[in-house]
Amino acid sequence: MLRTSVFPSRYVQGAGALLALDDELARFGSSAACLVDANVKAILEPLFARAHHVKLHARNVHAACTERSIAEAAAWIRGTGAQMVMSLGGGKVVDTGRAAADDLRLPFVCVPTIAASDAPCSALSVIYDEEGRVIRDRFVRRNPDLVLVDSQIVVSAPVRFFIAGIGDALSTWYEARACQRAQASNLCGGRATAFAMEAAKLCRDTLFAHAVQAVDDCRANIVTPDFDAALEATVLLSGIGFESGGVAAAHAIHHGLAELPQTHAFLHGEKVAIGVLASLFLSTVPDSERREVFQLCSDIDLPTRLADLDIDVDDAEALALVAERACRSGEIIHNEPYPVTPAMVVAALTAMNRYALRNNF
Ligand SMILES: [Zn+2]
Repeated sequence: MLRTSVFPSRYVQGAGALLALDDELARFGSSAACLVDANVKAILEPLFARAHHVKLHARNVHAACTERSIAEAAAWIRGTGAQMVMSLGGGKVVDTGRAAADDLRLPFVCVPTIAASDAPCSALSVIYDEEGRVIRDRFVRRNPDLVLVDSQIVVSAPVRFFIAGIGDALSTWYEARACQRAQASNLCGGRATAFAMEAAKLCRDTLFAHAVQAVDDCRANIVTPDFDAALEATVLLSGIGFESGGVAAAHAIHHGLAELPQTHAFLHGEKVAIGVLASLFLSTVPDSERREVFQLCSDIDLPTRLADLDIDVDDAEALALVAERACRSGEIIHNEPYPVTPAMVVAALTAMNRYALRNNF
């Protein structure tokens, strides 16, 4: 199998990065169609005031990323005659803009205003149906031409989003390592490059070094070097690491947990964190490795127990449902370097829960 890696073309991050947006956009043309999350409308006005080189057209997006919302966005973008597409907001706006830009073969600029997952830098849009269920992962032709992250905007968003983003990023190293050991394929159709593995490892090391302080800084709404370091790990390093390294048990267990209605109130990264912790019980793992991951999750208020996701550990039927979904044929859990069965997943979830209780995590 070939080694393959993908990256965003350009990445800009820091407090006040939005001040550079006009100059950055001018690389791609003189007019931009902006899909804007209704929650962040307030930052739009200063952007318009500073738009000297690039004419901005804006449209509010409320809907989830569905085939219909993508088609509607694409029709609007075509009507503006814009030379690039920009998404400003959270996951659904980003994924809608990414897919519409791909349909129109236009450059795509991603300006995430929260850091709740590692999706911004990727070439992946998650498509939902009108009932809010995930129907497929759509891989677009190219990663974003620009990802611009204003740390000041992200730090001002609710801290829970940032914590969830760290949960998502925490999975990156463990899943990339599993894929490497199993010689399994990454998300861009090849094996990981050494660079992707280093990005995943640096992601993990950066989180262990800076995430606790970064979350506290985020609670106080202050951009610090620790916050910026953890933000880069969450958005850039995890983005490269998951896409070019590959995904495995932690995300498969996430998909299983998402089958339970009571987990719908929880964010992607919160469920992924439980997936990471449980995956540490699918094989013999040194206690020091388990301990450091539990400690980090506990320190930053990520879930460490099933009850944190409103799941009753004694609900055998629920755990069986999670495990069956996680282990279905062709699922990414089979990227682990050993066979995984539903019974192993139930055992891992139960052992994980007992470990957290026993050690007060
Ligand atoms: Zn994820």
